[in-house]
Amino acid sequence: MGRNVQTRYITIPCNFSFVHFMVHKTERVGEAKFPFPAKCTKMIACLGRIVHDTDAESKPDDVASSISKSLDLQGSIESAGITGVAGRDFGGLYSVESLALIKPSGAEDIARVVKAASRTSHLTVAARGNGHSINGQAMADGGLVIDMRSTEENHFTFSTINGSPYIDVSGGALWEDVLTRCVLTLGLAPRSWTDYLSLTVGGTLSNAGVSGQTFRYGPQTSNVTELEVVTGKGEITVCSENQNSELFFAVLGGLGQFGIITRARVKLQPVPDMVRWIRVVYSEFEEFSRDAEFLVIQKEGESFDYVEGFVFSNNDDPVNGWPSVPLDPDHEFNPAHIPQTAGSVLYCLEGAFHYRNGDHPSTVDTAVSRLLGRLGFVELLKFQVDLSYKEFLLRVKRTEEHAKANGVWDSPHPWLNLFVSKSDIADFDRTVFKKMVKDGVGGPMLVYPLLRNKWDNRTSVALPEGEIFYIVALLRFVTKGPSVEDLVAQNHEIVKWCIKAGLDFKLYLPHYQSIEDWKRHFGNQWTRFMERKACFDPMAILAPGQKIFKRTHQS
Ligand SMILES: Cc1cc2nc3c(=O)[nH]c(=O)nc-3n(C[C@H](O)[C@H](O)[C@H](O)COP(=O)(O)OP(=O)(O)OC[C@H]3O[C@@H](n4cnc5c(N)ncnc54)[C@H](O)[C@@H]3O)c2cc1C
Repeated sequence: MGRNVQTRYITIPCNFSFVHFMVHKTERVGEAKFPFPAKCTKMIACLGRIVHDTDAESKPDDVASSISKSLDLQGSIESAGITGVAGRDFGGLYSVESLALIKPSGAEDIARVVKAASRTSHLTVAARGNGHSINGQAMADGGLVIDMRSTEENHFTFSTINGSPYIDVSGGALWEDVLTRCVLTLGLAPRSWTDYLSLTVGGTLSNAGVSGQTFRYGPQTSNVTELEVVTGKGEITVCSENQNSELFFAVLGGLGQFGIITRARVKLQPVPDMVRWIRVVYSEFEEFSRDAEFLVIQKEGESFDYVEGFVFSNNDDPVNGWPSVPLDPDHEFNPAHIPQTAGSVLYCLEGAFHYRNGDHPSTVDTAVSRLLGRLGFVELLKFQVDLSYKEFLLRVKRTEEHAKANGVWDSPHPWLNLFVSKSDIADFDRTVFKKMVKDGVGGPMLVYPLLRNKWDNRTSVALPEGEIFYIVALLRFVTKGPSVEDLVAQNHEIVKWCIKAGLDFKLYLPHYQSIEDWKRHFGNQWTRFMERKACFDPMAILAPGQKIFKRTHQS
């Protein structure tokens, strides 16, 4: 492929209007050869200034300061560069060079940035939550990245509506801070979580937000009732089921395509004091999935408060095998209890039971024993600990601290997340778990059932058809062994196999390179997705890192 010159526009105010000046970069052949709309050329002439990459004037700091002056932001702006935070994410697979990293003070600043970008022909804008995407979804190559964390303190307002408690929080707030503040000040907490809480409210709501409470309350997208959003037109809009409802549902699970969430109203519930966290082991997938499905279809009060599960290798590998199951260093996983008939992998069903300090221990024991008594796990392969509710929700934080100390947290993470229909999960187990990844992925391999009726079809999330479907998460940590390229290739192989075998599945946190793949992903929701884009971000300014739509010049 040949190379030629690409032009990016930066907006600078001139007599109360915006003018554009340009930064030359390399680009692919075949894109527009006339980067200067007549209006821009006139304005550039007026400014009399064209900045090239090689010019001293186009140093990143200069660019940042020019943008800063032009936008008149309350917040601040930094040059981004390829090594900066804006060009990296948790996946560690992609890096790009953005034009600038903007730290807005709030929705007004964000609206100004989006509006300014809309007056250019090329600029894109990516909201960056905590950058915990895998495939560059929060990046903007050559564009403006908005650091949503700088707005995290903006909202924290409690309200009661029709007797139910809610908290209004910033889109850039971390869920772990929402937890801490809600528990501390209100004795209440959101109902639906992610396993790991150093993720932002806006980031998870743009995907779904799934964990062991999803079977009961739905994903996090089912647990918010109002949003404040800056659309791709730079309009600040409040939306809910009854007000601007199309925008509300578009944004939920919308992959950042329709608006930037600056505030979310989250449902709350009273918090328990304590949690009994339990893991039981199965040698057969059929029994594991039967029990997991049994637990998730029970009524509230007749099941655990949290249900998850994972697959592990049937060997003594410290990361992928038996030692990954016990919940306490004092617990011992005795392989002598594993049935002779067991295969290359085993399954662990995980439940958590909430209780209050005032509950008599025997009440808790009885309730938990009754539930466990209905399950067919391998006798004697049961592990449990009691811990505070907050400790339980922050459990992955401990893993993070440990992994950081060992240097594996910052290694690349070619993760693969899928939703697979109940009708196909046994097939998936036979081919993927038992063969392709039987030796593990260097991290957890989650698999647990969810109920479609807890998800709202009006949101933008794409789901499989089945009423019960499983989330499958291959959370790879690359340390030694196969190269990152090989692991990415194996992810592709798994997805290709799912397509070829005709599985009813969708990618969660999807990542595709071609429009055909995106069309297949959304299926019969594609038309609605495109219409929403045309309505709320007609110039395709937002979330370019998702690689769904190309920036256009005119709405
Ligand atoms: C260690 C770890 C554990 C995880 N555990 C879970 C889990 O248990 N359950 C689960 O569902 N997911 C989980 N995830 C995935 C997580 O939900 C996604 O990575 C998600 O993107 C949130 O991360 P973030 O806040 O850093 O968002 P980013 O990665 O920064 O952004 C993700 C996307 O959302 C857009 N975006 C960000 N903020 C906003 C906003 N305010 N408004 C609109 N668009 C926005 C971005 O432009 C980007 O396209 C996990 C990820 C990691 C790394």
